[in-house]
Amino acid sequence: MESFKLFINGQFESGAATFDSLDPASGQPWATIAEARADEVNRAVAAAHRAFTAPEWRDLTASARGKLLMRLADLVEQNADELARLETQDTGKIIRETRAQIAYVAEYYRYYAGLADKMEGRVLSIDKADTETWTRREPVGVVAAIIPWNSQLFLSAVKIGPALAAGCTLVVKAAESAPTPLLAFARLIAEAGFPPGVCNVITGFGASCGTVLTTHPDVAHIAFTGGPETARHIVRNSAENLSKTTLELGGKSPFIVFEDADLESAANAQVAAIFAASGQSCVAGSRLLVAESVKDRFLATLVERVERIVIGAPQEMATQFGPLCTAQQKSRIEQLVAQSLDQGARLLTGHYPVDRPGFYYPPTILDCSETPRAASVVNELFGPVLSVVSFRDEADAIRLANDSAYGLAAGVFTQNLARAHRVTKALRSGVVWINTYRMVSPLAPFGGYGLSGHGREGGMEAALEFTTTKTVWLRT
Ligand code: NAD
Repeated sequence: MESFKLFINGQFESGAATFDSLDPASGQPWATIAEARADEVNRAVAAAHRAFTAPEWRDLTASARGKLLMRLADLVEQNADELARLETQDTGKIIRETRAQIAYVAEYYRYYAGLADKMEGRVLSIDKADTETWTRREPVGVVAAIIPWNSQLFLSAVKIGPALAAGCTLVVKAAESAPTPLLAFARLIAEAGFPPGVCNVITGFGASCGTVLTTHPDVAHIAFTGGPETARHIVRNSAENLSKTTLELGGKSPFIVFEDADLESAANAQVAAIFAASGQSCVAGSRLLVAESVKDRFLATLVERVERIVIGAPQEMATQFGPLCTAQQKSRIEQLVAQSLDQGARLLTGHYPVDRPGFYYPPTILDCSETPRAASVVNELFGPVLSVVSFRDEADAIRLANDSAYGLAAGVFTQNLARAHRVTKALRSGVVWINTYRMVSPLAPFGGYGLSGHGREGGMEAALEFTTTKTVWLRT
């Protein structure tokens, strides 16, 4: 068994206890993890709090912070194979996906390295003689970054990068189900040369470690990615200290295919939109809304492609589809699909037992056109299940797309430019992809409407989330 420690105040330590991390492809324990409880969390926050005001960090120029982040980006690249190996081993996400993801994790750190010295205040043209007035952008303080299991390195990079660029310090909490990539990444923080305490990495369970962290009076901002139910706990916890929150939550993203779409390319995009990461992605295009007139043709193409997907061991490059991360995920998905079938959904492919150990569930498509409120249409499954609902016309497509408490992402497939604009404007969604899906860039803000959360990650917007504005008046 490999073992992983907590990273507090620049030192690795063993924690209050240990627990095992399971390999999703076998269901067996493969790593021993140090667990943070109240004492470790309190010491991590104290370290971050001290580091925030210590001259080694406070007096560092913005461009010097940028250089440290640049070094971190280089180290991520140099250690990409090991980081991808751990992410694959711990989450079951296939190696081709984790390798590709690590490459853009480095790009995010590089982007925020460049942004560190570009967070400018403004000079205000106040209508008063003998007065100069300006604003300064100042870091908010200690940030608690709470990360879900599905993409530890990416979902932490989109918080750590902008928070450090802004001059904040952090306590990063890795998810207990797959903490190893982030605990291993902590070594790179030390190697990059960040002063002790500037970025601490811990893990532990939500109810203990997470609660102590999010109720801590010295935490100024909680940057959370995870499910809406956990988000409600966290917002309640934040109320005590009125700490600021940014919430990146789930989705039930519509993938809309109009009759004039390029059906071949839409089918390719749909397969990747829902089945990448075995569907365990917040932006998964999990609701296919397809024009009635092309439905049969489109679904036939889709089923044919899905049935060719190669299910296998996540470590092998030939594998196109791996296991789910946890046994709980698998049984929840099985139950919701069974419930949808009982409600009248029609099984087009999938929902069979995969003949492998571990937490495998196959790519599944359900036609829910007759049951548009079926459990699989309404709930985020966070798994490889596509629910199909057909629509009559554009207004019907928009109504169905917006008929969700979530609003994270949407895909619009049409060759009619005017329609693409009209539909995009009408969608209640933080991201809209037109004739493509799942494109991300460090330059592009990302976040949701409604139950998908608030605040933005990516772009300048993310860095500004970690700052507060000070207005200065000078009598000349
Ligand atoms: P989760 O909400 O169960 O857990 C996320 C993190 O919160 C974990 O680190 C967990 O330990 C911690 N946590 C749990 N209870 C806590 C508490 N009371 N106080 C503080 N921390 C607590 O989510 P998950 O199952 O790990 O991830 C799946 C969810 O994340 C899905 O809903 C998915 O859509 C969402 N997600 C969203 C995005 C996005 O960017 N919008 C990206 C990936 C995943």
